[in-house]
Amino acid sequence: MQISQALNEGAPAASPQVARQSLLGMSFDEVEAAVTALGLPRFRARQLWRRIWRHGQTDFGDMTELGKDARAALAQAFHADRPMITSRQNSTDGTIKWLIRCHDGQEAEMVYIPEEDRGTLCISSQIGCTLTCSFCHTGTQRLVRNLTAAEICGQVLLAMDELGDWPAGKAERRLTNIVLMGMGEPLFNYEEVKKALLLIMWGEGLGLSKRRVTLSTSGIVPEIERCGAELGVNLAISLHAVRDDLRDVLVPINRKYNIKELVDCVRRYPVLSNARRVTWEYVMIKGVNDSPEDAKALVKLIRGIPSKINLIPFNPWPGTDYECSSDAAIDAFAKIVMKAGYASPVRTPRGRDILAACGQLKSESVRLRKSQMVAQAQAETSTL
Ligand code: SAH
Ligand code: SF4
Repeated sequence: MQISQALNEGAPAASPQVARQSLLGMSFDEVEAAVTALGLPRFRARQLWRRIWRHGQTDFGDMTELGKDARAALAQAFHADRPMITSRQNSTDGTIKWLIRCHDGQEAEMVYIPEEDRGTLCISSQIGCTLTCSFCHTGTQRLVRNLTAAEICGQVLLAMDELGDWPAGKAERRLTNIVLMGMGEPLFNYEEVKKALLLIMWGEGLGLSKRRVTLSTSGIVPEIERCGAELGVNLAISLHAVRDDLRDVLVPINRKYNIKELVDCVRRYPVLSNARRVTWEYVMIKGVNDSPEDAKALVKLIRGIPSKINLIPFNPWPGTDYECSSDAAIDAFAKIVMKAGYASPVRTPRGRDILAACGQLKSESVRLRKSQMVAQAQAETSTL
């Protein structure tokens, strides 16, 4: 294991920034309104926009084309800072995990996973998670708060800074895909996630194709429908069980939206085709959900839906009672799935040495506001 760590890098989490408003979560129209409200001409908004979204600039002082007066006025009212990096860990397999700190001290994580044909950034949508999936490390950390659109975009822009990916859209870029599979349930923070993804996908923003963006959800049915209609991104569903009694335990939101409702809603997801399949995520837990009967029920359940199946070996974390299925059980399960026509379904865990693999993300923010979290948890369970 080779871990290199850097502390306290990036933009300072200085308090003066707090008073200034972030430009990163604003739509172009909002930026234009903000610029003209400062008494600046409208065309400055387009110049400013390009500096931020196409060139990744954060310091108004460097944006010389804007003119001196505009630079000074903007610097007083706004900022384009990324979250701060608290630590960076490099896995032996090339995976990088950053712990990032927002201006209020709350922390979240993001992970970069390089592969032969792509580089995927896994971003967080919340700090912690209100859901309590029993096998997930993040689930043991109650929600501290939703991330704002600026903080969600800030993760992507920060990763581009780190990976040397400016200007946006350059041919040899390292970040080609985004998955919302970090901390949090993105569909419980839908409005901010939507705002951020629209900026990331807009041609004048980062211009990332919606085919290169995947949103993973534990199954919030009404928002899956909105996501399909309004964003059209790829969908990944954390299924993990094929019987309601078991899924109620593994993924407790199942008590609100059960397997049948979930599968029916995915069947209606508008962008699905053989070229754009839904991904069913299925974590392999020893003696819990890994029998050949489960595999057969799985392929039967999703029959007729353009699908990929991702079998994820359970990634252990400190304090869990679950264990990863044996290689033999995973092989037997995978064989049944492959026989039904789904290719190479086992996901190789990445960044395991730095706890960056699926479900291992958890920040220390949980310790900061325990009383609030308890109140939040009570409110949450009463709505389930
Ligand atoms: N909240 C969303 C997105 C984040 S979780 C969701 O649940 O889909 C990203 C993926 O990691 C999900 O499929 C989740 O079920 C899976 N996961 C969580 N804990 C895991 C663990 N310990 N081992 C392997 N996968 C895990
Ligand atoms: Fe939240 Fe997803 Fe973890 Fe469940 S699996 S607790 S929804 S982050």
